[in-house]
Amino acid sequence: ELPVARPYPAGGEGGGESWVTSRLDLLVNWGRANSLWPMPFGTACCAIEFMATAASRFDLARFGMERLAVSPRQADVLLCAGRVPLKLAPVIRRIYMQMPQPKWVISMGACASTGGMFDNYAVVQGIDNIIPVDVYVPGCPPRPEGLLYGILMLQKKVMNERMADKSLRHEIVPDPSSHLY
Ligand code: SF4
Repeated sequence: ELPVARPYPAGGEGGGESWVTSRLDLLVNWGRANSLWPMPFGTACCAIEFMATAASRFDLARFGMERLAVSPRQADVLLCAGRVPLKLAPVIRRIYMQMPQPKWVISMGACASTGGMFDNYAVVQGIDNIIPVDVYVPGCPPRPEGLLYGILMLQKKVMNERMADKSLRHEIVPDPSSHLY
C-alpha cells in the first residue's frame, strides 16, 4: 500500500485553510515522506533485522531512506531497534532532542515498544516513556517486511501532516526531578 495524501480540505474540513496552504502542505509532505533520513539506534537483535532491511534484498532505498545518518543533527527519523536499558534512557532522549524538526520515531520490536520479555527494573518498559513514538512495529524480531510496512505507515502519517499544526512540533523538555534523566 502506497502512502496517499490526505484529501484536499474543501470547506469546513480543512479548518479554514486556503487552497495554497493545502497544496503547499501536500508538496512539502511529499518531499519529506520520500526522503526520510533514518538514524538507527540499534541496541539488540532487532538491529540485525534492520540491517537486512537496509541491504539489497529488501532495499530501503526504494523508499528514499538509503541515507543512514550517524549524527542526530542530520537525521529526521530515529529508528530504535532493541531493548533500551535504563542507563541508556538519557542517551536516547538526548539524541532525540538533538534531532532538528521535523522528526519522527519508529519503535522496532517488542522490546523497544514495551520492554518485551525483559519485564524488569533494568529495562525501559517502552521508549514512549522517554520520547514520543510515531510508529510501533510489532514482532520479536519484526521481519524486514514488517519494518517496511511500518515505514509506509510513517510515510502516510507524514503525508497527512499540516505545517500549521504546531502541536506536531512540540519539543520535549528534560525533567530534572526524574530519576531517568
Ligand atoms: Fe531481540 Fe526480540 Fe527484543 Fe527485538 S524484540 S531486541 S529480537 S528480544
